[in-house]
Amino acid sequence: MKKVIVVGAGPGGLATSMLLAKAGVNVTVLEKQGVVGGRTSTHGEGGYKFDLGPTFFLYPQVLKSIFKAVGRNLETEVEMKRLDPQYQLLFGDGGSIRATPNIEEMVRQVAKISPTDAAQFPRFINENRDKLKQFKFCLEEPFRGLKDILRWPVMRLLPTLRPWLSLDQELARYFADPRIRLAFSFQSKYLGMSPFQCPSLFSILSFLEYEHGVWHPMGGCGSVSQAMARVATEMGVDIRLDQTVERIEFKGKKATGVVVDGREIKADAVVVNGDFSKVVPQLIPNEKRGRWTDTKIEKSKFSCSTFMMYLGVDRQFPDLAHHTIFMSKDYQQNLKDIENDHVLTDDPSFYIHNPCVTDPSMAPEGHSSLYILVPVSHQHKNIDWARETPAFRARTLNQIKKVFGIDLEGSIRHERVVTPNDWENQFSIYRGATFSMAHNLGQMLHLRPQNKFASVEGVYLTGGGTHPGSGLPVIYESARISSRMLLQDLGLPWDHCRVPGPEEDLIDSPGREQVRAQSSSKKMATSGI
Ligand SMILES: Cc1cc2nc3c(=O)[nH]c(=O)nc-3n(C[C@H](O)[C@H](O)[C@H](O)COP(=O)(O)OP(=O)(O)OC[C@H]3O[C@@H](n4cnc5c(N)ncnc54)[C@H](O)[C@@H]3O)c2cc1C
Repeated sequence: MKKVIVVGAGPGGLATSMLLAKAGVNVTVLEKQGVVGGRTSTHGEGGYKFDLGPTFFLYPQVLKSIFKAVGRNLETEVEMKRLDPQYQLLFGDGGSIRATPNIEEMVRQVAKISPTDAAQFPRFINENRDKLKQFKFCLEEPFRGLKDILRWPVMRLLPTLRPWLSLDQELARYFADPRIRLAFSFQSKYLGMSPFQCPSLFSILSFLEYEHGVWHPMGGCGSVSQAMARVATEMGVDIRLDQTVERIEFKGKKATGVVVDGREIKADAVVVNGDFSKVVPQLIPNEKRGRWTDTKIEKSKFSCSTFMMYLGVDRQFPDLAHHTIFMSKDYQQNLKDIENDHVLTDDPSFYIHNPCVTDPSMAPEGHSSLYILVPVSHQHKNIDWARETPAFRARTLNQIKKVFGIDLEGSIRHERVVTPNDWENQFSIYRGATFSMAHNLGQMLHLRPQNKFASVEGVYLTGGGTHPGSGLPVIYESARISSRMLLQDLGLPWDHCRVPGPEEDLIDSPGREQVRAQSSSKKMATSGI
């Protein structure tokens, strides 16, 4: 029986462990923290429950098909509720949108702010449906080098993807009012990027929300990670918590196992799920990392970070939406402060999560668990969090008071604050960049750390730091890509790691079949068939 070690029980590591176990691999997951789920876990005390990172699910289809591939059903493991309204958007310079997947109602919502833009919304949805359909196979295949880009199914996407445009410029093809553009582009923040810098292809994110829903897993997103760990364990995966992997052992270029507490655990291969830029340099020495040297990582671009407040409050807020996003008056300056100048903003934008309106299990009766996320710069010498935290906490509470008229201070019964410094030091995330390496064109596809780590043998990556990128659906997809490559290398069955057909996957991507046909004819040619 082949043995594989997975370093980290985040979403990527858990999905990989399920797929490998299905092929009969002996899988051990080693997790540094005392809980599973990594950034997708749930924490709290005294009956207050908070998601640590992600607070909603987009396109659960990928995870559903992974559950199905291992003979289980995601829906029977975790109850998921589709939200309508999806979220409330508040603009600092006036106006609000109650975002709903009901297209006619959404047209009315947009018309409240910009009647001329409202008519463009259905066109935006239709064109992005087609764009995702064309592009989706690129999120399902490994990209090993330029030759994988220079294939006809990829090259012919250029006129549809318009990589020379930023997301905001792409949105300007549909909407004149900057607030409406923001309503359909702020989702680049899920990747920790500004819509003014993020590549245009990410207009598919808002499309995914309107077409396939914004979902709340009952009990929080951590309940999905727990369900994955439960299923993996039932399949024979050995998940060990509080185990920090110190390094990967090599014989020449070949990984032979990992070291924990000074002792080696042997394996045929190792999958790293911890944040690539922070964890891989700890596990693999510089000289074995090929192009991903310390210097290259230092020069890479990283997503923003987040200042978090998790508050258990002795009141309820029935009029506060499940998700509310407030975009400050000078949103562009706010983004410049975060991404270019690396300073704290006086008038910050923020996101507030009030899950108790949907899911009373998240707090004791009559109370609320509020999660407040303020996008801030990743770790930078300009900001000393040990000094700034108390003042920034006060500024955040003050901003909530200003926007909603809610004074939280006297009602707080439980509080936890997480700063970029904590993301880096407690949660092992490089520079505390919560959404990993940035998704600019120079760090995507074959230019991102690859699923099979090329400079050594027997090391694979899964999670937000590898291809296709950060964000739960593509993180699960990375697990599928890496598991497929690993199982092929071990000579084990991997058919269950294929992306299923349109009847299950909902989106049929024509390029998928062309790429498959090309690679199987290449295999036949090399094997002499
Ligand atoms: C505040 C926040 C909000 C987010 N919101 C969203 C959202 O709304 N939607 C969305 O799709 N995504 C969101 N994300 C991004 C992303 O989906 C999650 O961060 C996701 O959990 C990343 O998954 P991952 O598989 O890359 O690994 P992680 O969740 O980072 O897990 C990696 C695991 O590896 C472990 N590890 C690290 N080093 C070692 C070691 N040496 N030995 C053993 N174990 C180790 C870590 O402890 C961790 O448990 C958000 C992230 C954050 C932080």
